[in-house]
Amino acid sequence: MKYDVLIVGAGVTGALLFLALKNKNINVGLIDGRDKAPNSYRHLSLNNKSMTFLKELDAWNVIGKTAFEYNQIKVWDQEGTGFIDFNVNELEKNIPNIGFIVKEGDIQNSLLSLVSDSKNLLWSCNLEKIEKINGDIHCETSKGKLETKILIGADGIQSSVRNLSSISSRTWSYNQTAIVANFSVPQTDPCIRQTFTSVGPLALLPMNETELTMIWSIDDTKAYDYLGMNEDDFINEIHQSFGEKLPEIKFSAKRQSFPLKHLSAKTFARGNVFLVGDAAHHIHPLAGLGLNAGIGDVKSLSDLITPESLLQVKQIEDKYNQQRIPINLALAAAMEAFKRGFEQKNIWIRLIRNHAFSLTNKLTFLKNKFIELATEL
Ligand SMILES: Cc1cc2nc3c(=O)[nH]c(=O)nc-3n(C[C@H](O)[C@H](O)[C@H](O)COP(=O)(O)OP(=O)(O)OC[C@H]3O[C@@H](n4cnc5c(N)ncnc54)[C@H](O)[C@@H]3O)c2cc1C
Repeated sequence: MKYDVLIVGAGVTGALLFLALKNKNINVGLIDGRDKAPNSYRHLSLNNKSMTFLKELDAWNVIGKTAFEYNQIKVWDQEGTGFIDFNVNELEKNIPNIGFIVKEGDIQNSLLSLVSDSKNLLWSCNLEKIEKINGDIHCETSKGKLETKILIGADGIQSSVRNLSSISSRTWSYNQTAIVANFSVPQTDPCIRQTFTSVGPLALLPMNETELTMIWSIDDTKAYDYLGMNEDDFINEIHQSFGEKLPEIKFSAKRQSFPLKHLSAKTFARGNVFLVGDAAHHIHPLAGLGLNAGIGDVKSLSDLITPESLLQVKQIEDKYNQQRIPINLALAAAMEAFKRGFEQKNIWIRLIRNHAFSLTNKLTFLKNKFIELATEL
């Protein structure tokens, strides 16, 4: 089989790019090593820019049905008095909400349902080897040989496309493990709450009217203890660590864990190989921005790839790197500063940190700036 563009990885970024390029009548293929879409129960926050792009592709009609809008974010420091409240009514930008909480499986399935007629989507097809012959890329997969002019890695943090094309990356562990779980509660409100506890940031996000999803990024030295606790002890620990009174919570989906590490590919495009999403960059989940940054990559690349521009791949390569590397580096640096600032036990740093929190909360223009950054990925 021969394509103009072959995308490896049918997660959210790969499925989205497939749909966007198919809509432009580009001869595009999509492969994934899994045997089918996993219908992941994980819930993620999407910003308005991501939602607008999904709307442009007519994908929001379906995804929006189960998406839960939120209009407030409260963040506070457990070891002091620092508190920030981002409320949509106080922001300069006239926006109806700050973002949405959506089930990962719903996004992926909705995108794939829009292209389900496609014979160019291959499951159980693992990329194993690549070779450049006469400018094109010849791929060996578990389902045979595929040829393409442009190869795109949307294949996650362990990206085979990145590794097989020898694009190096900077990576380090955050020395934390994210424990994710869902809880039923009598009633939610449209607010994300996040507190910096002594073992790491703990966030509770409303999934719908009666369920919350939790992401608690816990220092590796303690994570096993928290994962090993029985459900009642774990819930008690949340009540004690959260700092704000919580209603009665009950597990509605069991704990999952994700080791957290940072990754930045040294380049996002080289020759006719491109990387999007986690294959190019992976950050700490504390601001819920990783997938939004990946959707930003897809938007940029799908604008740059047209039937005409396929003949000028060098221009696509340069523009894509210019558009996506700086913004993702800035995001990675901000996440690193946040994480490091909050792991400091030094009393003076804690004092400054709390003062900075209180000051930020009073300065509306700074709060607007934060929201702008978080929504312009
Ligand atoms: C705890 C946690 C919470 C998070 N919360 C948020 C949030 O609220 N908001 C947000 O924006 N982001 C969030 N993120 C980040 C977000 O989950 C990721 O950025 C996003 O899921 C990455 O999507 P992707 O499509 O790039 O990669 P993936 O979802 O990893 O998809 C990669 C696909 O490639 C396939 N693949 C891999 N190798 C091969 C191969 N050799 N051949 C064929 N196929 C292959 C895999 O099977 C998979 O289907 C969070 C992350 C974590 C860990």
